[in-house]
Amino acid sequence: MTEPLPDEPREMYCLTCAYPLRNLERRSCPECGAAFNPNDESTWSPVPFNPEHRKMARVAVGAFTGGCLTPVMVLMFVGFVMVAVIVIAGLLMELVRLVSEWIG
Ligand SMILES: [Zn+2]
Repeated sequence: MTEPLPDEPREMYCLTCAYPLRNLERRSCPECGAAFNPNDESTWSPVPFNPEHRKMARVAVGAFTGGCLTPVMVLMFVGFVMVAVIVIAGLLMELVRLVSEWIG
C-alpha cells in the first residue's frame, strides 16, 4: 500500500534570469521584470539554471544548425550540377546523333 505523496509546493525560477520566484506576491520577476504565472508551468522553470548556459546552448544550436545546413546546401548544389550535366550530355548525344544522320 502506497501513500500518495504530499503535494509539495514546487520551486519556481525566472526563465530569463533564474531568480527564485516562489512566495512572491507579484506576478513579475523582481530581478528582470519578466512576467510569470504560477499556474502556467511554461512561464517559469522548476529548476535553477545558469543563464549563461542558456546562451551557450543557443550558440551550440546555432552552430549545429549551420553545420548541418552547409553540407545539405553543398549536396543540393552537387545534385543540381549532376542533373545539369546529365541533361547537357543527353542534348549533346542527341545533337551528335542528328549530325551523324545528316552527314551519313
Ligand atoms: Zn528574472
